[in-house]
Amino acid sequence: MILAKLNEYIGEEIEFHCWLMGKRSSGSIHFLMIRDGSAFCQVIASKENLPDDKFNTCDHLQIETALKIKGLVVKESRSKLGFEIHLKDFTVISEPSEEYPIPRKPSGPDFLLTKRHLWIRAPKQAAIMRIRSNVIHAVREFLDKNDFFCVDTPIFTSAAGEGTTTLFKVDYFNNDVFLAQTGQLYNEATAIALEKVYCFGPSFRAEKSKTRRHLTEFWQIEPEFVFADLDSVIKLAQDMIVFAIDRVLDRCQTDLKILERDVSKLQLIKPPFPQITYSEAVEILKKKGFNITWGDDFGAPEETEISSNFSKPVCVHRYPIKIKAFYMKEDPSDNQLALGVDFLAPEGYGEIVGGGIREENLKILEKRIEDENLPKEDFLWYLDLRKFGSVPHGGFGLGIERTVAWICGIHHIRECIAFPRTIDRVRP
Ligand code: ATP
Ligand code: MN
Repeated sequence: MILAKLNEYIGEEIEFHCWLMGKRSSGSIHFLMIRDGSAFCQVIASKENLPDDKFNTCDHLQIETALKIKGLVVKESRSKLGFEIHLKDFTVISEPSEEYPIPRKPSGPDFLLTKRHLWIRAPKQAAIMRIRSNVIHAVREFLDKNDFFCVDTPIFTSAAGEGTTTLFKVDYFNNDVFLAQTGQLYNEATAIALEKVYCFGPSFRAEKSKTRRHLTEFWQIEPEFVFADLDSVIKLAQDMIVFAIDRVLDRCQTDLKILERDVSKLQLIKPPFPQITYSEAVEILKKKGFNITWGDDFGAPEETEISSNFSKPVCVHRYPIKIKAFYMKEDPSDNQLALGVDFLAPEGYGEIVGGGIREENLKILEKRIEDENLPKEDFLWYLDLRKFGSVPHGGFGLGIERTVAWICGIHHIRECIAFPRTIDRVRP
């Protein structure tokens, strides 16, 4: 029995476990706000419906008391769930040993983050976690349905996947290894074995900039497949995003209400997504007065400006090859460009997907590794993939927290993971 499904029990007496979130009293009635793992709801405790001793106990119940309650489910249109509960009886399972440290009145994020282990009980925070769970389930189901195999990639790695400036070094039996920034290079190996693969797991990047889009530990789902071209990579990412949004709209209505999300914005997210080239994006920025020259990478303000022109994610493709990772394939029709694509989410959420086609030619790849001064011995295994059975292939990474932040309409992605890690926070 969970709160979110009690609307099927209107008019019936039910029993379930919950926690007290708040209460107010008016003489012969106590209004208890309770929550379980699925939602929150008002409980009416009236003198006439309860034994005297129980009614009096209600007066002393403290926030975060664990309860088992028995009551009648009554239709109530003002409730987000469409009902309230009229209390008949209850038992106390545990009482707090001291006053709950999170006050009812709004507190600032710095304080709340120090109490993150308790803050996740708050209705909005719990709603974000439930939506995150649905998003993860949906993207995996989407890939499974499309014949992808989930193959896990290592967290301890010997070389950079994304760029050397954000590597976390770990002492591995007196040798330096690095926490994975991406599973992609390994995905390329498993893709040649299994054709369509994805990895799903945490990525680690020593992000020194404090933006609302960067964590040092975040989760990505990264599909990779063979015989890919840029259009098929874009289509896969687009269809996966649409599938996840449809799933959330279908299954998370109550949570979207708790978050006061404008769902009409999400209902617009249907294929096809708009596509523009990097060069076109630069023109948009110049017109808006940005001081940018062709060849510069986009930061958060640039991404926000570009995406503000669209109500769906916009696919920006063919970036200058100089600002992209060494494994990105050159555009055969212009050697200045990479066959890469970023999806910029609407409403200022920035890049949620980065991907593209990988260089499959051994000679070109060897030269790129040399030009970028990367340690060749760390990439010998990777170069083997180009020696044996090399074929065109590509894929992308979708950041879970950024996608969830956008879907939930949450300003900062740190609220989209249970225990966020940033440059100044590893506790709790
Ligand atoms: P950005 O330029 O915004 O730092 P990126 O180009 O480094 O992103 P990719 O390497 O393409 O990102 O990673 C794939 C996806 O992982 C991104 O589209 C984004 O959704 C997510 N991502 C990347 N870095 C972070 C981070 N530090 N915190 C949370 N999500 C991230
Ligand atoms: Mn980055």
